Amino acid sequence: MSDVQQQIESNPPLQVVFQSNAINLLGLDRAGMEDFFTSIGEKKFRASQVMKWIHQLGVTDFQEMNNLSKDLRTRLSETACVENLKVAQDQISTDGTRKWLLQLMDGNFIEAVFIPEDDRGTLCVSSQVGCALDCSFCSTGRQGFNRNLTTSEIISQVWLAAHLLEEEKKPGRKITNVVMMGMGEPLLNFDNVVRAVRIMMDDFAYGLSKRRVTVSTAGVVPAMDRLGDIIDMRLAVSLHATNDELRDELVPVNKKYPLKELMAACRRFIDKQNARSRITFEYVMLDGINDQPEHARELVRLLKGIPTLMNLIPFNPFEGSGYRTSSKRAVVRFRDILHQSGMTTVVRKTRGEDIDAACGQLAGKIEDKSRRHRRFAEPRFGME
Ligand code: SAH
Repeated sequence: MSDVQQQIESNPPLQVVFQSNAINLLGLDRAGMEDFFTSIGEKKFRASQVMKWIHQLGVTDFQEMNNLSKDLRTRLSETACVENLKVAQDQISTDGTRKWLLQLMDGNFIEAVFIPEDDRGTLCVSSQVGCALDCSFCSTGRQGFNRNLTTSEIISQVWLAAHLLEEEKKPGRKITNVVMMGMGEPLLNFDNVVRAVRIMMDDFAYGLSKRRVTVSTAGVVPAMDRLGDIIDMRLAVSLHATNDELRDELVPVNKKYPLKELMAACRRFIDKQNARSRITFEYVMLDGINDQPEHARELVRLLKGIPTLMNLIPFNPFEGSGYRTSSKRAVVRFRDILHQSGMTTVVRKTRGEDIDAACGQLAGKIEDKSRRHRRFAEPRFGME
């Protein structure tokens, strides 16, 4: 922990008080908010007013919303709330990456990460408590699965990050992109994720453009089709292997939706989007497993005809993973083969390593309901 620049640890809450029965407005998209106001006998335009207060101005107390009548403010206090997750731990890495451990109402913990780069600030958001997919090289998977996050719990990560970054009052510390690449498989929490994405893109909320919000999937084919049908946004696909035999082992959901079906779904997704779009593929580089020149050549053949942005991710090791990071030489050799084929390829920089904030290192602290990996599910944060 010595190279952690700053560590702000709040005392564990003795008791977190949550209002019961009140509807949490944080998780309503525009349509939901309009329905809510209609249901209490108000005009629809209240929806955009209140969304602006909550998401853009960071106001959570209805009494401060001074373009609403006194009567409406009182009624809102009685029927609704704006309730965020509790920040249990807040860490900043030496490279500027900032990670939050957030406590949910049921006592589980999830993580969200802000990654600053020269021209952008990316927030990596969790979609589930743990993950059910059990990819062999991912520490979130090792923790097992508890439940889906609600829309409010997803959006709260954005709300908290936006407002805590603003408090830093430093240039370049603003969310310009959101990637659903934290804990969980977003497409297995479809409705809540789509609602959250709509809030991220709403001009009265975070106003992010459709090219700046990415959902990442391990390849849940029917949900990829549904997503393509209803929303225009970026899709990232965690590929990691170029043949079914290896992918079955690394990404077990491949047994259900093998590569041929996955590639067909990628093509269908692209066809539904506008002409400029392409799919981001993620490929974790595992020493001696999937990083050989023949794998690179197989990858080129597999992705032929699909507009691709290839992200090569150096494997981030964790205890007991059984994998090693590919050598720099192997990564460069692999990248060069892809480049030569004309594929746009970037080697993702590992960020926030000193605070365990890198890809696949997000672990939160969850009660595993699947009991799949009990021996791994020990809490990493001594907070009890
Ligand atoms: N379930 C979704 C969202 C997770 S995104 C998905 O699979 O796409 C997180 C990305 O980091 C995925 O591409 C995942 O495969 C990758 N990843 C997981 N563990 C990793 C590790 N230890 N090192 C590097 N990347 C990892």
